Amino acid sequence: MKDELKKEKIRCTCGKWTRPKHFNMEGFKVRGSECPSCGEVYFNIEDANKVFVYNKIKKAALTGKVTKAGNSYVLRLPKALVDALGLSINSTITISVETPTTVKLVI
Ligand SMILES: [Zn+2]
Repeated sequence: MKDELKKEKIRCTCGKWTRPKHFNMEGFKVRGSECPSCGEVYFNIEDANKVFVYNKIKKAALTGKVTKAGNSYVLRLPKALVDALGLSINSTITISVETPTTVKLVI
């Protein structure tokens, strides 16, 4: 069993031990486990919360602001977006221009 899944093995409410596995929720890899007996599913709260935070901002119209720091231009991102995407200082983002007024950021 992979180390990152070791803590996911828990005792199900039916009394059996669950089987740790990864789930795919909206493109996020979520740690969790599934009971082989009753089928009950348990999600890692930290991972599930990332999906929850992402869903909160998914359809929101967020705004960033271009500022200047020395000779560089800086795009300031809303904290909600940074948190939802798990970005941190020095994260690298790929930027591609889609149309003259639309850019795509890929993390
Ligand atoms: Zn069970």
